[in-house]
Amino acid sequence: MDDINFYFRLTDEMPEFVRTKDWSATKLGPREQWSPSLGMALEIVLASAFPMALRWGPDFVLLYNDGFRIILGEKHPWALGRTAQEVWPELWDQIGPAHEAILNGRHKAIFIEETKLRIQRNHDSWDDASFTLSYSPTPDATSPTGIGGVFVTALETTCRVGTERRLREVQSALEAERAFLRDLFQHAPSFMAVLHGPEHRFEFANDSYQRLIGHRQVIGRPVREALPEFAGQGFFELLDRVYASGEPFTGRRMLTNLQRQPGAAMKAVYIDVMYQPIRNADGEVYGIFVDGSDITDRVAAEEALQRLNAMLEQQVTARTHERNRLWQNSQDLLSVVDTNGVFREASPGWTSILGWTPEEIIGRAHLDFIHPDDRPASEDALAQALDEKLPAFENRLLHKDGSYRWVSWVATREADLVYASGRHVTAEKAAAGELARAQDALRQAYKMEAIGQLTGGIAHDFNNMLAIVIGSLDLAKRRLQRGDVAVERYLDNANEGAQRAATLTRRLLAFSRQSQLAPQAIGLNKLVECMSELLRRTLGERVDLETTLAADLWPANVDPNQLESAVLNLAVNARDAMPDGGRLTIETTNVDLNDRYAAQEVGVAPGQYVGIAVSDVGMGMPAELLQKVFDPFFTTKPVGKGTGLGLSMVYGFARQSGGHVRIYSAPGHGTTVKIYLPRHFGSLAPLEDATRPNSLLTLGSSMETVLIVEDEESVRRMSIDALLELGYTVYAAASGEEALTVFANADRIDILFTDVVMAGMTGRQLADTLRTKCPELKVLYTTGYMRNYMTYSDAFDPGITFLPKPFSVTELAVKLRAVLDG
Ligand code: ADP
Ligand code: MG
Repeated sequence: MDDINFYFRLTDEMPEFVRTKDWSATKLGPREQWSPSLGMALEIVLASAFPMALRWGPDFVLLYNDGFRIILGEKHPWALGRTAQEVWPELWDQIGPAHEAILNGRHKAIFIEETKLRIQRNHDSWDDASFTLSYSPTPDATSPTGIGGVFVTALETTCRVGTERRLREVQSALEAERAFLRDLFQHAPSFMAVLHGPEHRFEFANDSYQRLIGHRQVIGRPVREALPEFAGQGFFELLDRVYASGEPFTGRRMLTNLQRQPGAAMKAVYIDVMYQPIRNADGEVYGIFVDGSDITDRVAAEEALQRLNAMLEQQVTARTHERNRLWQNSQDLLSVVDTNGVFREASPGWTSILGWTPEEIIGRAHLDFIHPDDRPASEDALAQALDEKLPAFENRLLHKDGSYRWVSWVATREADLVYASGRHVTAEKAAAGELARAQDALRQAYKMEAIGQLTGGIAHDFNNMLAIVIGSLDLAKRRLQRGDVAVERYLDNANEGAQRAATLTRRLLAFSRQSQLAPQAIGLNKLVECMSELLRRTLGERVDLETTLAADLWPANVDPNQLESAVLNLAVNARDAMPDGGRLTIETTNVDLNDRYAAQEVGVAPGQYVGIAVSDVGMGMPAELLQKVFDPFFTTKPVGKGTGLGLSMVYGFARQSGGHVRIYSAPGHGTTVKIYLPRHFGSLAPLEDATRPNSLLTLGSSMETVLIVEDEESVRRMSIDALLELGYTVYAAASGEEALTVFANADRIDILFTDVVMAGMTGRQLADTLRTKCPELKVLYTTGYMRNYMTYSDAFDPGITFLPKPFSVTELAVKLRAVLDG
């Protein structure tokens, strides 16, 4: 064999790393200088398919083929051309002696099977590797021993050994994992099964699956046989498709007729299910993994939620429709105003009522639409609406035609907006005005009617009385003309008629609340007791009088004479209501009128009152009668019997006294009249009757001088006669001015008896003037009109004495005596 040729023939097929190696830097020196043995040995190494290496020379310089590179790991290509000791310092103790032995020729070959070597293939890791090694000598003629180096074949057995062990490990790990997974699957909340083969035979079914299908024996059975009721619902077909196509399936299905136990009721069940094909190593499908969950409850909940949502949605829509309809169709001015008073929304109502379209309003200040006079109040109202709920507010809004309309507003605030609703009330306001006018007119008509009735009543009664007076006086005059002096009977008649007329006017004055009241602190119980004798005589034998008098009764502030006359009036009415007799009760009580009661009665102030009630068991009155009984001249009694002035007097007196009257009655159930009189706070005055004449007191003496001033001639003349009759010395004057002259010329005047209202100087002015001259001068005033008394009373001192007109001689006597002695 041609060495050189052989050498060069293979050069091209040398591995790159050998061919390009710069050998001159190694202990072998440039390749041209190598011995032919070395070249041939390298050829052999490089041609080998096994991992093979050559360690040349006494330093065992390393040369190796491609297969050997795996054993060197990261040490390649650095290791090429290095000494074996450099490359494997960690092994040299172990492998060095074998190398020496081969090179020295002591051994022809060394074979080491499966030796464990701890080698460092990578710079940061050690491998416990197994090798089967063979060492053999390389002949070289140039070497003294005939041996140039060592041939090494190294078969690493690490892999085979490791693989077998690892296979065992992996198998047990797999089994453990399978057991773990099986355990996991077994108790998983979702149901799982493994189906095998094209007929989907159950290989595994976990607890949940067993629960789903009612714990039947399925393992080893094909699904069609194990789960007959699933037929016709697409499940089996689905499994077939997954098996055939290898495509997994995921989706929701409903099972209509799942039977949990044989004979048990069928049940509809919703499931979420996944069919996952299982493949073998060749990628062929051989089974299906079934995984799913029973979502019946969730579906039910979802459906309920959906139904609820749908319902709510429907309601909201309906509500919104409603609201929109309201907004669109409302005949009110609906609007939304922001905190700056600018319109944000306006309903179509604005157009129908005020002519403005919503577009003309939105964005403008609300004040622009308000009557200038109403603006400040409207601004205040908006400010209030921003604070709290605005109760109700009216203002005038501008119509597009320039006129104004009255609008009544309500508003509430929400967030930074005021929602206002305005009602057009122009017509209502006009109607209210109309109504007020109509009511005024009606009231006027009533008043005129009442005045007419009153005037007619007075005229009628007065005519009757005047007829008596005139007739009697006429008769007396005729008799006197005939020289017959027996006229006393006629004069008595005339006097009686005149007295009746006086009573009438007094009652009228009482009704018109123009009586001169002299209120005192009075004990009502005492007053009733004092009256009982008079009452018994008035009531007659057929009526029993009963009194129920409250202990600890408060004193009342009232004119005792007027009260007596009121009680007498009520007693007479009671007697008339009980023609067949019965019982009359007078009761006194303390009364606290609370605010609620007071509010129901016109002109009654809440507070403490003393009540006196007069009750009978007579015929009573129907409601329509009750409304009229206080009217003056209203009577149901025959002509000559009733005047219709009794209750009106009681009413006027009670009101003038600061109290009031209530009447309770029903037909057949009797009548109760209650008078409430203001409580007197303080001690009680002794009850004295100033009006009852006491003859001893009434007489004057001629030593006492009276100056009478009266501009009405007939009254003056009558008064002079009466005073003379009573025994006084009398001076008279027709005016204040005349009285001054008379006073200046008179020796002495004890008492001035003067009218209040006269032409020129008034009674008061006269009295004051005379008093400056004679401070001890006593004064008695008289007047026909309580109106005068009211007007002038402010100017008079308290304690002045009045004699109201008309007065009897007796009354005059009593008053004069009182003033002169007081
Ligand atoms: P007169 O008694 O003169 O009729 P009044 O003003 O006292 O006038 O009474 C008015 C009317 O009220 C009476 O006519 C009578 O119809 C009715 N009336 C008054 N008191 C009673 C009563 N106690 N019972 C029934 N009716 C009464
Ligand atoms: Mg009466």
